[in-house]
Amino acid sequence: MGCCDTQGLLPIEDAIQTMLADVSPLKISQKLPLETALGHVLAEDVRSPIDVPPFDNSAMDGYAVRTQDLTTTDTLPLAGKAFAGQPFSGEWPEKTCIRIMTGAPVPTGCDAVIMQEKTEATPEGIHFLTSQVKAQANIRPQGDDFKQNEVVLPAGSRLTVRDLPLLASLGISQVLVLRKPKVAIFSTGDELKPVGEKLDAGQIYDSNRYAIRPILENFGCDVIDLGIIPDNQTQLTETFQQAQSLADVVITSGGVSVGEADYTKTILESLGTINFWKIAIKPGKPFAFGKLNHSLFCGLPGNPVSAVVTLYVLVQPMLAKLAGHTQWQAPAQIQATSKVSFKKSPGRTDYQRGVFSVENGQIVVDNAGNQSSGAFRAMSTANCFIVLEQQRGSVEAGETVTIEPFNPALY
Ligand code: AMP
Ligand code: MG
Repeated sequence: MGCCDTQGLLPIEDAIQTMLADVSPLKISQKLPLETALGHVLAEDVRSPIDVPPFDNSAMDGYAVRTQDLTTTDTLPLAGKAFAGQPFSGEWPEKTCIRIMTGAPVPTGCDAVIMQEKTEATPEGIHFLTSQVKAQANIRPQGDDFKQNEVVLPAGSRLTVRDLPLLASLGISQVLVLRKPKVAIFSTGDELKPVGEKLDAGQIYDSNRYAIRPILENFGCDVIDLGIIPDNQTQLTETFQQAQSLADVVITSGGVSVGEADYTKTILESLGTINFWKIAIKPGKPFAFGKLNHSLFCGLPGNPVSAVVTLYVLVQPMLAKLAGHTQWQAPAQIQATSKVSFKKSPGRTDYQRGVFSVENGQIVVDNAGNQSSGAFRAMSTANCFIVLEQQRGSVEAGETVTIEPFNPALY
């Protein structure tokens, strides 16, 4: 691991690499019915048991022909019908055509389907208005999408709403998936009150669990929510013990900043090996990562925006590895023109909250609002992070900046 930059802050990439090096993928797999497999990671390659489509079929409503027949005439008498689910089964006389509907198997010998719009019915038969018919026109060939035994989805893919109909089209009813990582979460702080209760003097609502839980679920984790724990040594120790006995990873928010680190540090040191890092990221400088006796541990900063940014930027890759999600991709970064200026001094990578859009064919990005790490409004308004590189200084309006559109975890 590279160490620290001039200000003693750990670069983001070093933190991510250290975390990744400490984690091995969960290996436990289970069979799940397709209906409940959404969001799970495949434990093995899924191969197609059949050709898809399973037979040559028509892509259009029209007429099945043998193109050879149309070299001498442009009108063919009708010899029968082929509908989806009701194939044409009789003898197909020469120089005739068959009415065919979309999805119907093409009759043996048919080498093109002529769409209905290019025909007219006459007393002599179907008159084809088009003289040149390409062989195989409007026929979807057997195995066009998948050949039998072809890999459809590789092991390590996480099943999306788009994968499920794909698997269903192959007749697959069950898939072998990896167990989801179990993550125990709790908020720490004497000042925290659950929503729905009245605030006393000096109190604020615990909002972090309302971000952390669904984001973790979007990452593909099962979450065990242990609530709010006050800054009390006994209670914290008990909760850490309980959390690590229940989960693969324990994630807390609050209590890892300079003022409180020593306190949490004492507890965590007795339960495992934890690094208290100062990361070169804004917001989110204080962050803890390490191993308890029975689980991994991530300590997010308490400020709500910092908690989300560190969870998204630092913890997401580690959880993807733990989940066996080898096909996971880091959020894409693209270039945009900044509509506004941003104040920044070199030293930390800045994850400003932005709103990007397309104006006159150009990607532009605006400030989403108040950039304080305690002010969540701009996080709600934003649709991307504006990633201002570690060594970059202030940005003027009109400059090119890197943006990271939010991935589905933040929706
Ligand atoms: P800490 O990291 O514990 O020093 O907390 C930093 C700031 O985040 C303080 O203003 C806390 O009140 C606030 N904070 C900590 N935990 C939460 C939480 N769960 N929800 C909302 N704000 C919090
Ligand atoms: Mg605190």
